[in-house]
Amino acid sequence: MSESLLIVDDVVCARAEVAATLAARRRGLLGRTGIDGALLLSPARQVHTFGMQFPIDVAWCDRRGTVLRVATLEPARLGAFVWRSRSVIEAAAGAFSTWQLGVGSAVRHTVGVNKAALVLVATPIGNLGDLSPRAAEALGAADTIACEDTRRTGRLLAHLGISAPRLLVVNEHTEYDATSTVVERIRAGERVVLVSDAGMPGISDPGELCVRAVIDAGFPVEVVPGPSAADTMLVASGLPTGRFVFEGFLPRKGAERAARLTELAGEGRTTVLYEAPHRLARTLRDLAEKCGADRRVAIGRELTKVYEELWRGTVGEALARTEEVTPRGEYVVVLAGADAPPEPDDDDLIAAINREKAAGASTRDAVDAVAGRHGVSKRRVYALAIG
Ligand code: SAM
Repeated sequence: MSESLLIVDDVVCARAEVAATLAARRRGLLGRTGIDGALLLSPARQVHTFGMQFPIDVAWCDRRGTVLRVATLEPARLGAFVWRSRSVIEAAAGAFSTWQLGVGSAVRHTVGVNKAALVLVATPIGNLGDLSPRAAEALGAADTIACEDTRRTGRLLAHLGISAPRLLVVNEHTEYDATSTVVERIRAGERVVLVSDAGMPGISDPGELCVRAVIDAGFPVEVVPGPSAADTMLVASGLPTGRFVFEGFLPRKGAERAARLTELAGEGRTTVLYEAPHRLARTLRDLAEKCGADRRVAIGRELTKVYEELWRGTVGEALARTEEVTPRGEYVVVLAGADAPPEPDDDDLIAAINREKAAGASTRDAVDAVAGRHGVSKRRVYALAIG
């Protein structure tokens, strides 16, 4: 449960806890001897007071936060099932009259329910326990959930006990067209939550186009951060994390792939790659060829899942391993950066200065050119030029 403030008709009335998961909603106010503030069950259409010791005020609200019905429930009562209600507010009996909360009141809480925005929500990359309370709350408060696959996201929502929100398919095929629907819905006052199948939306997943369109249309973009396979494996790799490059999936073939591999060969920063199991061996073979079989690499398989495996060694060893064990599951490859080229010795620099001069350069121009090209100080090159 997360905490925020309850706002009734623009007046901050009380502290509010938000129960967005099924377990938290079921728990409700049970076991409490009293309540200070309010509890928001979201989403919810029905409540009961079985097991409770004291009467409570209950308000059912629609998706915009307008109160549809209020009641005071004695212990051991089943509240009415209210259609069109989206969330339920519970408080100690009598609180609603103090807050002047009645049918028709406009209710919201500070986390942003009913504030039109695009909300990017990270979801687990394998372990459902990694779904944050804020992510559950954002999903529960969504007017529309834009997702890659309705069945997959439907299972996550079922796990959270969130029923039948509007789902909109935004995947690599539909993102371009769906973007205008996302903007229209936000313009109509909706909170549109964007999730991908797993991890952080927009990271090798749909999201970028929607974010750009929503920003261009002048609406806010919020993020509920969470798991991503790239940084999960980067930090576990044992390779330098101070500066790194995210490459995602390499181009599958052709000149574009070859050019990218050549860039990687000279890249001094740690590089993070995503790879499908059936292409892992081919990518390792290409990396061995371009970067050398001795380049260090760390490979994460099925991160956060039952068969999680973290492996570290050289590119050559990793390639040999793919020949012993057929790759299965999801993989992140973290490649060590290229070693810095060795400092040129004095003889190389003198030969370079002489070549520049023979081509007509002044001493000063020759020093500038050689120092720049070899990444050494002008002072050192100048000393060699006049020495
Ligand atoms: N948006 C996701 C993220 O933030 O990590 C990435 C989505 S991308 C379409 C899917 C790729 O991410 C997989 O092919 C794999 O390379 C990597 N991946 C996702 N989950 C993983 C996991 N549990 N273990 C290892 N790699 C994973």
